[in-house]
Amino acid sequence: MSHARNTGPMQASPRCGARTRNGETCRAPALRQKTRCRMHGGTAGSGAPFGNGNAVKHGFFTSEAIEERKFVRTVLTEAENLLRKLPAGSPTICNPDESGTRRTVPGTDSPPPHLTNDSK
Ligand SMILES: [Zn+2]
Repeated sequence: MSHARNTGPMQASPRCGARTRNGETCRAPALRQKTRCRMHGGTAGSGAPFGNGNAVKHGFFTSEAIEERKFVRTVLTEAENLLRKLPAGSPTICNPDESGTRRTVPGTDSPPPHLTNDSK
């Protein structure tokens, strides 16, 4: 009354491969023509909710962070282009040592704290 079960095709079916909470890949069979199982986005309405905060590790690739880096890049490029357009030999703007003007805190003779080199 015992026969060998033919589980070969079932075992050979493509697996889901989603990363689970314990760090391993999901071992459930993937749906037909899909790379994910029924629990990990294979069917409509399954998988992580939109804007899932549980999946965020460091926020480097959130849309806000990407937009911020894009903005900073644009500003830096514009500033670089502006500096290139300045005529050669014009007085330097950013280096107070070469221009001869010392930046001081208004009303005092001391430079602002962020310009002093008091590194310990
Ligand atoms: Zn899965």
